[in-house]
Amino acid sequence: MTFVSQFMKQARVMAGDLRHRKIIRAALGNYEIARDQRKASFQSWESARQLAAETKWDALNHLDKYLVEFTAKIEARGTKVHWASTAAQARTIILQIVEEKKARSIIKSKAMTAEEIHLNDALEHAGLNVVENDLGEFIVQLRHEAPYHIVFPSMHLTRGEISELFQRELGSAPTNDPEELTMIARRALRKKFLTADIGITGANFAIAETGMISITENEGNARLTAALPKTMISLLGIEKILPKLGDLALFLPMLATAGTGQQLTCYNTMYGGPRQPGESDGPEEWHIVLLDNHRTELLADAEQRDALHCIRCGACLNVCPIFRNVGGHTYGTTYSGPIGSVITPHLRGLQDWKHLSNASSLCGACTEACPVKIDLHHHLLQNRRNAAVKKPTLKGQLGFKAFVQLANHPKVWAFAKKIARITQPLQKLVEGTPFDPAKSWTQTRNLPPLAKESFKDWWRNRK
Ligand code: SF4
Repeated sequence: MTFVSQFMKQARVMAGDLRHRKIIRAALGNYEIARDQRKASFQSWESARQLAAETKWDALNHLDKYLVEFTAKIEARGTKVHWASTAAQARTIILQIVEEKKARSIIKSKAMTAEEIHLNDALEHAGLNVVENDLGEFIVQLRHEAPYHIVFPSMHLTRGEISELFQRELGSAPTNDPEELTMIARRALRKKFLTADIGITGANFAIAETGMISITENEGNARLTAALPKTMISLLGIEKILPKLGDLALFLPMLATAGTGQQLTCYNTMYGGPRQPGESDGPEEWHIVLLDNHRTELLADAEQRDALHCIRCGACLNVCPIFRNVGGHTYGTTYSGPIGSVITPHLRGLQDWKHLSNASSLCGACTEACPVKIDLHHHLLQNRRNAAVKKPTLKGQLGFKAFVQLANHPKVWAFAKKIARITQPLQKLVEGTPFDPAKSWTQTRNLPPLAKESFKDWWRNRK
């Protein structure tokens, strides 16, 4: 089955799944209210967005300089920096470190970049025990599922479903109490933290000025990941760079506001490398893996390079009517929703993933929600155009040629309208049958009746 047919099949099922829709609506029910309240605590949210976009623009325009600065500073404190051009290289680097350390168990905090390179599969294939320690990630890992959302990995599940999962997988007692469910996960995870050989994290930002990474989280699990195992590996995309430490004064509250409607996430930690002489905690070794994986190709795309501004807040997913109806897993990609539809064709191939750019009403809610002003809905249109130009389909070519002829010949256009008005009632007679010529549209939508009179005719007739 192709990616597009998988997507279409799953989207059809999910769009009719009212239970799923109810769960997602409930999960996001208070999000917009909380987010808007937090936005109000900025003197001007719009100015903050503009500044954030300009800061990321500067960071990306001088990425060569900032990456070298970041690397030099963090290496000076004993961190080993590795450069990975591809997902396969990143996996190999990490597997080599794991092998050198003779590690058997790994504890991992949430990192979408690790999902992007399918790191868990590679580690498990090598016989390692990998445990996700973010609560949502832990839940989806127990279900052998990918994260549903880049910020809320298990938002598609009810408390009852999580309780059943914990009873089955962890032998816990049934409960619907969120606090008790959290404690069950905590008890299971605490042992893993204490025995892990290696910790793996992602990073939200990498600061060039100080050579530090910044991790923002709500559970403290990333902190424990960085504090307990002797060896640490942080995997991050090269676009995570921010020029100055002071930029975090904008980006940390902005990420929390747009992502979860919080003023700040509970834990915001800066890491500058392994334990230094005289320090009492921290890992003995720290490795940073800087991942390209097609990011430099996107950087070279003058039209869409701002997609690299993304701070993975998830706001565009939360407001997207398509995401809310078809759900995160339907996309079949690491990054779902509008940003996923924009960047996946760059990361995994335009022709295989162009259908995601068609799964949009182009309402622009994503662009409006994006804190770093990525022009998301226009990028979806550009992907559609690029796909059509690079590999035109016969159907598309014929369709557009016919349209050009109609649009250039008003008499033919007027005649076609008349025919359409006469034949549309006939289409109603066959609607829902295999003989319906508009079947692909009417299967899931109503075909609106053509107006009895066009605007042009109405204008002419009113004299
Ligand atoms: S594209 Fe914008 S709104 Fe969407 S996740 Fe990235 S930063 Fe957030």
